[in-house]
Amino acid sequence: MRVVRFHAPGDVRIEDAPEPSPGPGDVKIRVRACSTCGTDVKILNFGHHHIVPPRVMGHEIAGEVVEVGADVSGWAPGDRVQVIAAIPCGVCGECRRGRMTVCPNQVSMGYHFDGGFAEYMIVPPNVLNVDGLNRIPDGLTFAEASVAEPLACVLNGQNLAGVGEGDDVVVMGSGPIGCLHVRLARARGAARVFLVDLNRERLDLAAGLVHPDAAICGSETDVVDAVLKLTEGRGADVVITAAAAGAAQEQAVQMTARQGRISFFGGLPKDKPVIALDSNLVHYRELTIVGANGSSPGHNKEALRLIAEGAVPVADLITHRLPLEGALDAFGIVARGEAIKVTIEP
Ligand SMILES: [Zn+2]
Ligand SMILES: [Zn+2]
Repeated sequence: MRVVRFHAPGDVRIEDAPEPSPGPGDVKIRVRACSTCGTDVKILNFGHHHIVPPRVMGHEIAGEVVEVGADVSGWAPGDRVQVIAAIPCGVCGECRRGRMTVCPNQVSMGYHFDGGFAEYMIVPPNVLNVDGLNRIPDGLTFAEASVAEPLACVLNGQNLAGVGEGDDVVVMGSGPIGCLHVRLARARGAARVFLVDLNRERLDLAAGLVHPDAAICGSETDVVDAVLKLTEGRGADVVITAAAAGAAQEQAVQMTARQGRISFFGGLPKDKPVIALDSNLVHYRELTIVGANGSSPGHNKEALRLIAEGAVPVADLITHRLPLEGALDAFGIVARGEAIKVTIEP
């Protein structure tokens, strides 16, 4: 079969690999859609400390069951499934407290296990043990289902930041994650949602799809001023940074309303994790700053449901579909910010 395999930073090959056969606790799937994201570009360029090459990449996975291992029950060939990316252990102290996103024993598809940029893939017992294989509701395409994984992460972020009814929300970063944040905030009853990006073209592309109440280009205007003006000087109830930029996080703190919440949703580059934070703003305005680290199996289920019910449509966010052989082109399109979501259909 054909796979997209990471060998070393800058060395990702589209090549032949033996088709896997399922062990006793495994489920084998025919991958039908695996979406790409910024993480894939990061892996291509820098590798990842959890990836021992060669490793099939791809973690936003949807497909069809073709074979089940001897000890597996509840799944049969033909079942349409979505696979979680981050796999908690299910048994440690955090997992038992329901905090699966911060499980210290977490492993991931496409990192510790071969991922979805392949014709066939094994879903390991680790996924099945934590209820991480989800049935795709009727009427949902594989491509749409593959977006459940990033939406699950967005859902975790908005749960932690308490996005809700009547909130003015600022989303900084208009990539696929930013677009999902805009859509989910609307679904949760936000009053107004403002979208920010430094890149005018990318901002226009995103705004044309998700229609924020205002689109603010950070390279043309002072973002903090613009948000304060739009909110009658109050600031936003919630600011979400979906950009790997310390400056965005610093601005977020400046434009948040009293008792507002800030989600540092996107991580910063490893070599630049320190920002300048006016801690008196946090103190006097009673701000809450929260992080966000991936998603749990439960978030994936809820994300699939939100997509299926039409609360968070994603079909129009998939702007590019490419065959497996086009994976390297896909990474280029993602890296240049020319797309919202690029889905590989192996
Ligand atoms: Zn991703
Ligand atoms: Zn755990």
